[in-house]
Amino acid sequence: VWRGYHFSLVDTAGLARADDQIEMAAQDQIREIATSASVILVVIDAANMITEEDQSAARLALKTGKPVILVLGKADTAGTIVEDEFRRLGIQTIIAVSAIHGRGTGDLLDAITEQIERIPEPKADDVVRLALIGRPNVGKSSLLNRIMGKQHAIVSDVAGTTRDTSVGMVRSHDRTIEILDTAGIRRRGKIAPGVEKFSSLRTMTAIREADVCLLVLDANDGIVAGDLNLAGAVLDAGKGLIIVMNKWDAVEKDEKTQARLTSKLESQFQFAWWAPLVYTSAVTGLHVNKLLELTLEIDGRRRQQIATGQFNRLLEKAIARQAPAGLKGKQPKINYGTQTGMNPPTFTIFCTYPDLIHFSYRRYIENQLREANDFTGTPIVLEFKHKHGENLRRKVR
Ligand code: GDP
Repeated sequence: VWRGYHFSLVDTAGLARADDQIEMAAQDQIREIATSASVILVVIDAANMITEEDQSAARLALKTGKPVILVLGKADTAGTIVEDEFRRLGIQTIIAVSAIHGRGTGDLLDAITEQIERIPEPKADDVVRLALIGRPNVGKSSLLNRIMGKQHAIVSDVAGTTRDTSVGMVRSHDRTIEILDTAGIRRRGKIAPGVEKFSSLRTMTAIREADVCLLVLDANDGIVAGDLNLAGAVLDAGKGLIIVMNKWDAVEKDEKTQARLTSKLESQFQFAWWAPLVYTSAVTGLHVNKLLELTLEIDGRRRQQIATGQFNRLLEKAIARQAPAGLKGKQPKINYGTQTGMNPPTFTIFCTYPDLIHFSYRRYIENQLREANDFTGTPIVLEFKHKHGENLRRKVR
Protein backbone atom coordinates (compact mmCIF):
# COMPACT_ATOMS: atom_id res chain seq x y z
CA VAL A 1 0.00 0.00 0.00
CA TRP A 2 1.44 3.35 -0.96
CA ARG A 3 -0.43 6.59 -0.26
CA GLY A 4 -3.72 4.79 -0.10
CA TYR A 5 -3.18 2.91 -3.33
CA HIS A 6 -3.27 -0.86 -3.10
CA PHE A 7 -1.41 -2.90 -5.65
CA SER A 8 0.34 -6.23 -6.07
CA LEU A 9 3.87 -6.47 -7.37
CA VAL A 10 4.52 -9.55 -9.45
CA ASP A 11 7.99 -10.74 -10.29
CA THR A 12 8.41 -12.49 -13.63
CA ALA A 13 10.90 -15.07 -14.79
CA GLY A 14 14.05 -13.43 -16.10
CA LEU A 15 14.24 -12.73 -19.78
CA ALA A 16 17.98 -13.14 -19.90
CA ARG A 17 18.13 -16.56 -21.45
CA ALA A 18 17.88 -16.79 -25.16
CA ASP A 19 16.76 -20.36 -25.73
CA ASP A 20 13.52 -20.50 -27.59
CA GLN A 21 11.28 -21.99 -24.97
CA ILE A 22 12.14 -19.42 -22.36
CA GLU A 23 11.69 -16.70 -24.92
CA MET A 24 8.31 -18.11 -25.80
CA ALA A 25 7.29 -18.29 -22.18
CA ALA A 26 8.45 -14.69 -21.81
CA GLN A 27 6.31 -13.64 -24.73
CA ASP A 28 3.38 -15.39 -23.14
CA GLN A 29 4.02 -13.66 -19.87
CA ILE A 30 4.02 -10.31 -21.52
CA ARG A 31 0.77 -11.13 -23.22
CA GLU A 32 -0.65 -12.19 -19.90
CA ILE A 33 0.61 -8.97 -18.36
CA ALA A 34 -1.21 -7.06 -21.04
CA THR A 35 -4.52 -8.20 -19.60
CA SER A 36 -3.54 -8.40 -15.93
CA ALA A 37 -1.09 -5.65 -15.05
CA SER A 38 -1.72 -1.92 -14.75
CA VAL A 39 1.91 -0.85 -14.95
CA ILE A 40 5.01 -2.67 -16.17
CA LEU A 41 8.44 -2.12 -14.65
CA VAL A 42 11.40 -3.02 -16.82
CA VAL A 43 14.33 -3.52 -14.47
CA ILE A 44 17.87 -3.31 -15.77
CA ASP A 45 21.31 -3.07 -14.20
CA ALA A 46 22.39 0.57 -14.03
CA ALA A 47 26.04 -0.34 -13.79
CA ASN A 48 26.12 -2.26 -17.05
CA MET A 49 25.76 -1.45 -20.69
CA ILE A 50 22.34 -2.03 -22.17
CA THR A 51 22.08 -5.62 -23.29
CA GLU A 52 20.08 -7.22 -26.05
CA GLU A 53 17.82 -8.77 -23.42
CA ASP A 54 17.16 -5.33 -21.93
CA GLN A 55 16.16 -4.14 -25.35
CA SER A 56 13.83 -7.03 -25.99
CA ALA A 57 12.26 -6.68 -22.54
CA ALA A 58 11.66 -2.98 -23.19
CA ARG A 59 10.25 -3.70 -26.62
CA LEU A 60 7.86 -6.37 -25.33
CA ALA A 61 6.72 -4.14 -22.50
CA LEU A 62 6.08 -1.14 -24.73
CA LYS A 63 4.19 -3.30 -27.19
CA THR A 64 1.50 -3.96 -24.58
CA GLY A 65 0.47 -0.31 -24.63
CA LYS A 66 0.51 -0.27 -20.81
CA PRO A 67 2.40 2.40 -18.88
CA VAL A 68 6.03 1.32 -18.62
CA ILE A 69 8.66 2.52 -16.12
CA LEU A 70 12.34 1.86 -16.63
CA VAL A 71 13.98 0.99 -13.32
CA LEU A 72 17.74 1.30 -13.14
CA GLY A 73 18.69 -1.16 -10.44
CA LYS A 74 21.88 -1.31 -8.36
CA ALA A 75 22.16 2.47 -8.66
CA ASP A 76 24.53 2.51 -5.68
CA THR A 77 27.19 0.74 -7.74
CA ALA A 78 26.75 2.75 -10.92
CA GLY A 79 28.47 6.04 -10.11
CA THR A 80 26.92 8.97 -11.97
CA ILE A 81 24.02 7.73 -14.02
CA VAL A 82 23.57 9.33 -17.41
CA GLU A 83 19.87 8.88 -18.01
CA ASP A 84 20.17 9.87 -21.64
CA GLU A 85 22.04 6.71 -22.39
CA PHE A 86 19.06 4.68 -21.25
CA ARG A 87 16.55 6.76 -23.16
CA ARG A 88 17.21 4.87 -26.31
CA LEU A 89 15.20 1.99 -24.85
CA GLY A 90 12.22 4.17 -25.64
CA ILE A 91 10.78 4.33 -22.12
CA GLN A 92 9.93 7.83 -20.92
CA THR A 93 9.89 7.38 -17.17
CA ILE A 94 13.27 6.40 -15.76
CA ILE A 95 13.97 5.91 -12.07
CA ALA A 96 17.25 4.88 -10.50
CA VAL A 97 16.93 2.74 -7.40
CA SER A 98 19.14 0.90 -5.01
CA ALA A 99 17.41 -2.08 -3.50
CA ILE A 100 20.15 -2.30 -0.89
CA HIS A 101 20.08 1.31 0.27
CA GLY A 102 16.45 1.99 -0.53
CA ARG A 103 17.39 4.98 -2.63
CA GLY A 104 14.77 5.91 -5.20
CA THR A 105 12.19 3.40 -4.01
CA GLY A 106 9.83 6.14 -2.83
CA ASP A 107 10.09 7.85 -6.20
CA LEU A 108 9.40 4.56 -7.89
CA LEU A 109 6.33 3.97 -5.76
CA ASP A 110 5.12 7.49 -6.58
CA ALA A 111 5.62 6.83 -10.27
CA ILE A 112 3.66 3.58 -10.00
CA THR A 113 0.74 5.15 -8.17
CA GLU A 114 0.59 7.95 -10.71
CA GLN A 115 -0.32 5.33 -13.27
CA ILE A 116 -2.98 3.40 -11.39
CA GLU A 117 -6.43 4.12 -10.13
CA ARG A 118 -7.45 3.79 -6.56
CA ILE A 119 -9.41 0.60 -6.11
CA PRO A 120 -12.98 1.73 -6.52
CA GLU A 121 -15.45 1.34 -3.70
CA PRO A 122 -17.61 -1.74 -4.16
CA LYS A 123 -20.22 -0.86 -6.75
CA ALA A 124 -23.57 0.00 -5.30
CA ASP A 125 -25.50 -1.98 -7.88
CA ASP A 126 -27.57 -5.04 -7.32
CA VAL A 127 -25.19 -7.46 -9.02
CA VAL A 128 -23.59 -10.24 -6.99
CA ARG A 129 -20.08 -11.06 -8.14
CA LEU A 130 -18.96 -14.65 -8.03
CA ALA A 131 -15.50 -16.13 -8.62
CA LEU A 132 -14.77 -19.83 -9.17
CA ILE A 133 -11.31 -20.49 -7.86
CA GLY A 134 -9.24 -23.62 -7.41
CA ARG A 135 -6.38 -25.63 -8.80
CA PRO A 136 -6.30 -26.61 -12.48
CA ASN A 137 -8.53 -29.54 -13.46
CA VAL A 138 -10.76 -29.54 -10.41
CA GLY A 139 -13.70 -28.76 -12.69
CA LYS A 140 -14.14 -24.97 -12.57
CA SER A 141 -14.92 -24.57 -16.26
CA SER A 142 -17.22 -27.57 -16.24
CA LEU A 143 -19.15 -26.16 -13.29
CA LEU A 144 -19.24 -22.78 -14.97
CA ASN A 145 -20.73 -24.31 -18.08
CA ARG A 146 -23.32 -26.08 -15.96
CA ILE A 147 -24.17 -22.84 -14.20
CA MET A 148 -24.36 -20.78 -17.36
CA GLY A 149 -26.16 -23.40 -19.40
CA LYS A 150 -24.75 -25.45 -22.20
CA GLN A 151 -25.21 -22.85 -24.89
CA HIS A 152 -22.83 -20.42 -23.28
CA ALA A 153 -19.60 -20.15 -25.19
CA ILE A 154 -16.66 -18.91 -23.25
CA VAL A 155 -15.08 -16.08 -25.16
CA SER A 156 -11.39 -16.40 -25.48
CA ASP A 157 -9.56 -13.14 -25.15
CA VAL A 158 -7.59 -11.52 -27.88
CA ALA A 159 -4.28 -10.52 -26.39
CA GLY A 160 -4.10 -7.00 -25.12
CA THR A 161 -7.55 -5.92 -26.17
CA THR A 162 -9.43 -6.15 -22.92
CA ARG A 163 -9.17 -5.77 -19.21
CA ASP A 164 -12.67 -7.04 -18.75
CA THR A 165 -12.79 -9.41 -15.82
CA SER A 166 -16.25 -10.76 -16.44
CA VAL A 167 -17.02 -14.02 -18.21
CA GLY A 168 -20.77 -13.64 -18.10
CA MET A 169 -23.96 -12.98 -16.21
CA VAL A 170 -26.67 -15.33 -15.00
CA ARG A 171 -30.09 -14.52 -13.58
CA SER A 172 -31.29 -16.42 -10.55
CA HIS A 173 -34.13 -15.63 -8.14
CA ASP A 174 -34.53 -12.20 -9.76
CA ARG A 175 -30.95 -11.32 -9.12
CA THR A 176 -28.05 -10.93 -11.50
CA ILE A 177 -24.90 -12.88 -10.75
CA GLU A 178 -21.77 -11.88 -12.59
CA ILE A 179 -19.12 -14.56 -12.95
CA LEU A 180 -15.56 -13.26 -12.80
CA ASP A 181 -12.66 -14.51 -14.80
CA THR A 182 -10.03 -16.58 -13.06
CA ALA A 183 -7.09 -18.44 -14.45
CA GLY A 184 -8.22 -21.74 -15.85
CA ILE A 185 -11.55 -20.45 -16.97
CA ARG A 186 -11.00 -18.08 -19.80
CA ARG A 187 -7.57 -19.10 -20.95
CA ARG A 188 -8.03 -22.77 -20.40
CA GLY A 189 -5.64 -24.86 -22.43
CA LYS A 190 -3.66 -21.84 -23.44
CA ILE A 191 -1.57 -21.38 -20.37
CA ALA A 192 2.06 -21.84 -21.30
CA PRO A 193 4.62 -22.93 -18.75
CA GLY A 194 6.02 -20.03 -16.80
CA VAL A 195 2.85 -18.02 -16.52
CA GLU A 196 1.64 -19.53 -13.28
CA LYS A 197 2.27 -16.32 -11.40
CA PHE A 198 0.04 -14.34 -13.67
CA SER A 199 -2.62 -16.95 -13.35
CA SER A 200 -2.55 -16.49 -9.63
CA LEU A 201 -2.52 -12.74 -10.06
CA ARG A 202 -5.69 -13.05 -12.06
CA THR A 203 -7.19 -15.22 -9.37
CA MET A 204 -6.26 -12.63 -6.75
CA THR A 205 -7.89 -9.93 -8.85
CA ALA A 206 -11.05 -12.00 -9.12
CA ILE A 207 -11.10 -12.59 -5.36
CA ARG A 208 -10.73 -8.87 -4.76
CA GLU A 209 -13.60 -8.04 -7.08
CA ALA A 210 -15.89 -10.85 -5.95
CA ASP A 211 -18.56 -10.86 -3.27
CA VAL A 212 -18.53 -14.63 -2.96
CA CYS A 213 -15.90 -17.20 -4.01
CA LEU A 214 -16.49 -20.84 -4.82
CA LEU A 215 -13.38 -22.75 -3.83
CA VAL A 216 -13.57 -25.83 -6.03
CA LEU A 217 -11.83 -29.03 -4.90
CA ASP A 218 -11.55 -32.38 -6.61
CA ALA A 219 -13.14 -35.04 -4.42
CA ASN A 220 -10.69 -37.61 -5.78
CA ASP A 221 -7.66 -35.71 -4.48
CA GLY A 222 -6.56 -34.87 -1.02
CA ILE A 223 -6.61 -31.27 0.15
CA VAL A 224 -3.32 -29.58 -0.67
CA ALA A 225 -1.63 -26.45 0.67
CA GLY A 226 -2.71 -24.49 -2.39
CA ASP A 227 -6.37 -25.07 -1.53
CA LEU A 228 -5.86 -23.80 2.00
CA ASN A 229 -3.91 -20.78 0.74
CA LEU A 230 -6.75 -19.87 -1.58
CA ALA A 231 -9.25 -20.11 1.25
CA GLY A 232 -6.92 -17.91 3.32
CA ALA A 233 -6.78 -15.34 0.52
CA VAL A 234 -10.58 -15.25 0.39
CA LEU A 235 -10.73 -14.67 4.14
CA ASP A 236 -8.06 -11.97 4.05
CA ALA A 237 -10.03 -10.19 1.37
CA GLY A 238 -13.16 -10.46 3.52
CA LYS A 239 -15.12 -12.30 0.85
CA GLY A 240 -17.85 -14.91 1.11
CA LEU A 241 -16.72 -18.52 0.73
CA ILE A 242 -18.33 -21.78 -0.34
CA ILE A 243 -16.24 -24.94 -0.40
CA VAL A 244 -17.22 -27.10 -3.36
CA MET A 245 -16.32 -30.78 -3.40
CA ASN A 246 -16.62 -31.48 -7.11
CA LYS A 247 -16.49 -34.76 -9.11
CA TRP A 248 -18.47 -36.46 -6.36
CA ASP A 249 -19.87 -38.80 -9.04
CA ALA A 250 -16.40 -40.18 -9.69
CA VAL A 251 -15.66 -41.14 -6.11
CA GLU A 252 -16.04 -44.75 -5.09
CA LYS A 253 -18.04 -44.54 -1.94
CA ASP A 254 -19.99 -46.28 0.75
CA GLU A 255 -22.44 -44.74 3.19
CA LYS A 256 -19.64 -43.45 5.41
CA THR A 257 -17.45 -41.84 2.77
CA GLN A 258 -19.14 -38.46 2.77
CA ALA A 259 -19.15 -38.14 6.55
CA ARG A 260 -15.48 -39.07 6.71
CA LEU A 261 -14.53 -36.58 4.02
CA THR A 262 -16.64 -33.88 5.61
CA SER A 263 -14.95 -34.27 8.95
CA LYS A 264 -11.55 -34.15 7.27
CA LEU A 265 -12.52 -30.98 5.44
CA GLU A 266 -13.88 -29.44 8.60
CA SER A 267 -10.62 -29.94 10.40
CA GLN A 268 -8.47 -28.68 7.53
CA PHE A 269 -10.63 -25.64 6.91
CA GLN A 270 -11.20 -24.94 10.59
CA PHE A 271 -10.21 -21.31 10.09
CA ALA A 272 -13.21 -20.99 7.79
CA TRP A 273 -15.55 -23.25 9.73
CA TRP A 274 -18.53 -21.06 8.82
CA ALA A 275 -18.13 -21.74 5.08
CA PRO A 276 -20.80 -24.06 3.64
CA LEU A 277 -19.61 -27.27 2.04
CA VAL A 278 -21.36 -28.58 -1.06
CA TYR A 279 -20.82 -31.89 -2.87
CA THR A 280 -21.26 -31.39 -6.60
CA SER A 281 -20.83 -33.06 -9.93
CA ALA A 282 -20.43 -31.01 -13.05
CA VAL A 283 -21.12 -34.21 -14.98
CA THR A 284 -24.48 -35.17 -13.45
CA GLY A 285 -25.42 -31.68 -12.32
CA LEU A 286 -25.65 -32.73 -8.67
CA HIS A 287 -26.22 -29.69 -6.39
CA VAL A 288 -25.09 -27.25 -9.04
CA ASN A 289 -28.25 -25.16 -8.60
CA LYS A 290 -27.54 -25.05 -4.92
CA LEU A 291 -24.37 -23.05 -5.61
CA LEU A 292 -26.23 -20.02 -6.92
CA GLU A 293 -28.84 -20.24 -4.17
CA LEU A 294 -26.14 -20.27 -1.51
CA THR A 295 -24.31 -17.43 -3.21
CA LEU A 296 -27.41 -15.24 -3.02
CA GLU A 297 -28.04 -16.20 0.59
CA ILE A 298 -24.48 -15.34 1.55
CA ASP A 299 -24.70 -12.05 -0.31
CA GLY A 300 -27.78 -11.22 1.77
CA ARG A 301 -26.03 -12.08 5.03
CA ARG A 302 -23.07 -9.91 4.07
CA ARG A 303 -25.44 -6.98 3.76
CA GLN A 304 -27.35 -7.44 7.00
CA GLN A 305 -27.12 -4.75 9.63
CA ILE A 306 -27.07 -5.46 13.32
CA ALA A 307 -28.60 -2.70 15.43
CA THR A 308 -26.12 -0.98 17.73
CA GLY A 309 -28.32 -1.69 20.77
CA GLN A 310 -28.45 -5.39 20.01
CA PHE A 311 -24.71 -5.54 19.41
CA ASN A 312 -23.95 -3.82 22.70
CA ARG A 313 -26.25 -6.08 24.68
CA LEU A 314 -24.40 -9.00 23.11
CA LEU A 315 -21.04 -7.44 24.02
CA GLU A 316 -22.11 -6.76 27.61
CA LYS A 317 -23.25 -10.34 28.06
CA ALA A 318 -20.07 -11.70 26.50
CA ILE A 319 -17.85 -9.52 28.71
CA ALA A 320 -19.80 -10.45 31.82
CA ARG A 321 -19.15 -14.08 31.05
CA GLN A 322 -15.53 -13.51 30.14
CA ALA A 323 -13.62 -10.23 30.21
CA PRO A 324 -10.58 -9.77 27.96
CA ALA A 325 -7.31 -10.82 29.58
CA GLY A 326 -4.82 -8.17 30.66
CA LEU A 327 -1.08 -8.03 30.63
CA LYS A 328 1.32 -6.60 33.24
CA GLY A 329 -1.39 -4.76 35.12
CA LYS A 330 -2.97 -3.38 31.98
CA GLN A 331 -6.55 -4.50 31.60
CA PRO A 332 -8.39 -3.78 28.34
CA LYS A 333 -11.81 -2.38 29.06
CA ILE A 334 -14.42 -2.60 26.35
CA ASN A 335 -16.71 0.42 26.25
CA TYR A 336 -19.03 -0.12 23.32
CA GLY A 337 -19.21 -1.31 19.78
CA THR A 338 -21.06 -0.66 16.60
CA GLN A 339 -21.33 -2.08 13.10
CA THR A 340 -19.24 0.10 10.83
CA GLY A 341 -19.54 -1.73 7.54
CA MET A 342 -21.29 -4.27 5.35
CA ASN A 343 -20.10 -6.67 2.68
CA PRO A 344 -18.18 -7.92 4.69
CA PRO A 345 -19.93 -7.22 8.00
CA THR A 346 -17.49 -5.06 9.96
CA PHE A 347 -17.73 -4.20 13.63
CA THR A 348 -15.69 -1.66 15.55
CA ILE A 349 -15.28 -2.15 19.26
CA PHE A 350 -13.93 0.72 21.32
CA CYS A 351 -11.79 -0.18 24.30
CA THR A 352 -8.66 0.64 26.23
CA TYR A 353 -5.42 -1.18 25.30
CA PRO A 354 -6.80 -2.50 21.99
CA ASP A 355 -3.40 -3.98 21.18
CA LEU A 356 -3.75 -6.37 24.12
CA ILE A 357 -6.93 -7.96 22.81
CA HIS A 358 -5.89 -11.52 22.12
CA PHE A 359 -6.75 -13.49 19.01
CA SER A 360 -8.73 -15.97 21.09
CA TYR A 361 -10.82 -13.14 22.53
CA ARG A 362 -11.61 -11.89 19.04
CA ARG A 363 -12.66 -15.39 18.15
CA TYR A 364 -14.83 -15.50 21.26
CA ILE A 365 -16.65 -12.28 20.35
CA GLU A 366 -17.00 -13.43 16.75
CA ASN A 367 -18.56 -16.68 17.91
CA GLN A 368 -21.05 -14.78 20.08
CA LEU A 369 -22.00 -12.69 17.05
CA ARG A 370 -22.42 -15.78 14.91
CA GLU A 371 -24.52 -17.50 17.55
CA ALA A 372 -26.92 -14.59 17.70
CA ASN A 373 -27.04 -13.90 13.94
CA ASP A 374 -26.68 -15.99 10.83
CA PHE A 375 -23.38 -15.12 9.15
CA THR A 376 -22.97 -18.46 7.40
CA GLY A 377 -20.61 -18.16 4.46
CA THR A 378 -19.03 -14.81 5.24
CA PRO A 379 -16.08 -13.69 7.31
CA ILE A 380 -16.71 -11.02 9.93
CA VAL A 381 -14.24 -8.21 10.47
CA LEU A 382 -13.73 -7.10 14.08
CA GLU A 383 -11.71 -3.96 14.76
CA PHE A 384 -10.66 -3.05 18.25
CA LYS A 385 -9.88 0.64 18.62
CA HIS A 386 -9.04 2.98 21.41
CA LYS A 387 -11.97 5.21 22.15
CA HIS A 388 -9.80 8.32 22.30
CA GLY A 389 -8.03 7.59 19.07
CA GLU A 390 -4.90 6.38 20.82
CA ASN A 391 -3.97 4.23 17.85
CA LEU A 392 -4.12 7.15 15.51
CA ARG A 393 -1.85 9.31 17.64
CA ARG A 394 0.68 6.59 18.01
CA LYS A 395 0.88 6.07 14.26
CA VAL A 396 1.46 9.75 13.62
CA ARG A 397 4.22 9.99 16.17
P1 GDP B 1 -10.69 -26.55 -14.46
O1 GDP B 1 -9.27 -26.61 -14.89
O2 GDP B 1 -10.81 -26.42 -12.96
O3 GDP B 1 -11.53 -25.57 -15.18
O4 GDP B 1 -11.29 -28.03 -14.74
P2 GDP B 1 -12.17 -28.54 -15.99
O5 GDP B 1 -13.57 -28.04 -15.88
O6 GDP B 1 -11.44 -28.31 -17.24
O7 GDP B 1 -12.22 -30.11 -15.68
C1 GDP B 1 -11.07 -30.92 -15.69
C2 GDP B 1 -11.45 -32.33 -16.01
O8 GDP B 1 -12.29 -32.87 -14.99
C3 GDP B 1 -12.24 -32.46 -17.31
O9 GDP B 1 -11.81 -33.62 -17.95
C4 GDP B 1 -13.68 -32.59 -16.84
O10 GDP B 1 -14.47 -33.31 -17.74
C5 GDP B 1 -13.52 -33.32 -15.54
N1 GDP B 1 -14.60 -32.98 -14.59
C6 GDP B 1 -14.98 -31.75 -14.22
N2 GDP B 1 -15.98 -31.80 -13.31
C7 GDP B 1 -16.25 -33.11 -13.13
C8 GDP B 1 -17.18 -33.84 -12.30
O11 GDP B 1 -17.99 -33.30 -11.54
N3 GDP B 1 -17.12 -35.20 -12.35
C9 GDP B 1 -16.25 -35.86 -13.15
N4 GDP B 1 -16.28 -37.19 -13.12
N5 GDP B 1 -15.37 -35.22 -13.93
C10 GDP B 1 -15.35 -33.87 -13.93
